[in-house]
Amino acid sequence: MRIGILAIQGDVREHARHVSRAGGDPVLVRRVDDLAKTDGLIIPGGESTTIGMLMDEYGLLTAIRALAQDNRYPIYGTCAGLILLAKEVVGPSPARLGLVDITADRNAYGRQIASFEALMDIPVLGEEPFPAVFIRAPKITRLGDGVKPLATYQGTVVMAEEGPYLVSSFHPEMSEDIRVHQYFLEKVARTAKVQSAS
Ligand code: GLN
Repeated sequence: MRIGILAIQGDVREHARHVSRAGGDPVLVRRVDDLAKTDGLIIPGGESTTIGMLMDEYGLLTAIRALAQDNRYPIYGTCAGLILLAKEVVGPSPARLGLVDITADRNAYGRQIASFEALMDIPVLGEEPFPAVFIRAPKITRLGDGVKPLATYQGTVVMAEEGPYLVSSFHPEMSEDIRVHQYFLEKVARTAKVQSAS
């Protein structure tokens, strides 16, 4: 399974390492042509205004929206990536994909200094708690009807999925635990299977 990693900003190498450890083939995506070699995409954290602007400039927003049109191109957005996937954004609103029916409140967990790590229960990953790192993280303040919450921290949903899309407020590539990446790879495998069966 070839997993694209948007290589504009953020923990590109760490995501690539986690994808490899989870049994996938990481493909760095910088240009529209790179997308053709992928079965799914990870959008790392960073600064969503900058990433969105560059994605727009490189034609990646249009190309990814086209791939996503039939709901068969899995995308996982972490932190800034979550903001770029959100239909609605509170605060300065970056150019973005807007594919997931959530509202993201940018920087709702405070400034850089308010970054933290928390051990979280994520039932789809099994019983062992997951070490989740939050860095100037967005909060999901609204979930559309089709969006399934996967993890909650202090009453706020911090990981969710809708169809082929997965979002998390936290950075799973910053711990050694690869279960979130494994979960995304399974999603990509399922989507590929549906595709080849139809
Ligand atoms: N606060 C950043 C933004 O609004 C996201 C932070 C992150 O990705 N670690 O884009």
